[in-house]
Amino acid sequence: MKFCDLNKQMELIRPQIDENIQKVLEHGAFILGPEVNEIEETLANYVGTKHCLTVKSGTDALLLAMMALDIGPGDEVIVPGFTFYATAEMVAFLRATPVFVDVDPETCNILPSEIEKAITSKTKAIIPVDLYGQCANYSEINKIGKSHNIPIIADGAQSMGARHNDKMACGTADMGCTSFFPAKPLGVYGDGGAIFLDNSEHYEKLKQLRNHGQPKRYTHTMVGHNARMDTIQAAILKAKFEIFPREVELRNQVAKTYSELIKAEGLNVTLPFVAPGNLSVWAQYTIQTDKRDQVRESLQADGIPTAIHYPKPLNKQPVFSHYESSLPTSEKLSERVMSLPMHPYLEKDEQVRVVESLKKALG
Ligand SMILES: *Cc1c(COP(=O)(O)O)cnc(C)c1O
Repeated sequence: MKFCDLNKQMELIRPQIDENIQKVLEHGAFILGPEVNEIEETLANYVGTKHCLTVKSGTDALLLAMMALDIGPGDEVIVPGFTFYATAEMVAFLRATPVFVDVDPETCNILPSEIEKAITSKTKAIIPVDLYGQCANYSEINKIGKSHNIPIIADGAQSMGARHNDKMACGTADMGCTSFFPAKPLGVYGDGGAIFLDNSEHYEKLKQLRNHGQPKRYTHTMVGHNARMDTIQAAILKAKFEIFPREVELRNQVAKTYSELIKAEGLNVTLPFVAPGNLSVWAQYTIQTDKRDQVRESLQADGIPTAIHYPKPLNKQPVFSHYESSLPTSEKLSERVMSLPMHPYLEKDEQVRVVESLKKALG
């Protein structure tokens, strides 16, 4: 059993992938070719924002979004303590200060009440993360942003395809950043990412930041970056997107089956919780148990791969050890979470095997 089986998906769409790549080889526009514009339009429509700008990775999406807001030394950016490193890494990369706040024990997403307490006169942005594929509480967070005049950047690297009330993930805030890393819900065959937004001024600036700060060739008006997504990855994304809405349904089906099987066995684990108004895209199916390490070993022995997202909260990472902060929920989650195999083509009998192995491991 694989933790995330990308081959099953590839078998389904191989002819379309081959055809799309072939077209790029023929026209030869490997950088910012026509497929890049096409997929940007498709994705902007899907997410419901005016603009979509593809970039080289989810990490670059976060970096450019903050560059568009002129975030730099002396500025503070509020991020959850329980997320993948890149969220805070790019804040520090710009020599700004990440301010870690704690998360909700049920959704594992940033707590609006804790954001409110962390705001200072130096706060230049808030970056909620849609952990495991579920949107953060943007209804509350956007209110806080508005009342303090602080922009919100959604880190939707794990949540493309998810929904929060009437909004699609990445269309929930002033800007939304996503990743097309192969194992994300919508992935390519390499690195990729995108920024979603309505603000046309910021969009024009982002477009230049993506390409060495040039409004026109060899005229450089600002310090930018080379953050363009390859045309071949855009061509792959086009083929992947065709089956993506169906895959969002399949992921929800797989998650539902896990929860039903685990409940039917009455296993002593904490199931993932989806808040009312949210549709998760289940980037991960993550349970919690105090016997985490023992359970993982037992599943491993049965040939079932698991993963920990994430074993250390960011405030405890060596690189950030000079910040004094205590985040009790993030710290507790990092000791209890474990993710089970998850992808749209996981079979019911495979899920039964996982849950039987879990039952055995929990004694
Ligand atoms: C994957 C991920 C990123 C980084 O995306 P890359 O495309 O790998 O650079 C950022 N934030 C979160 C929450 C992620 O899961």
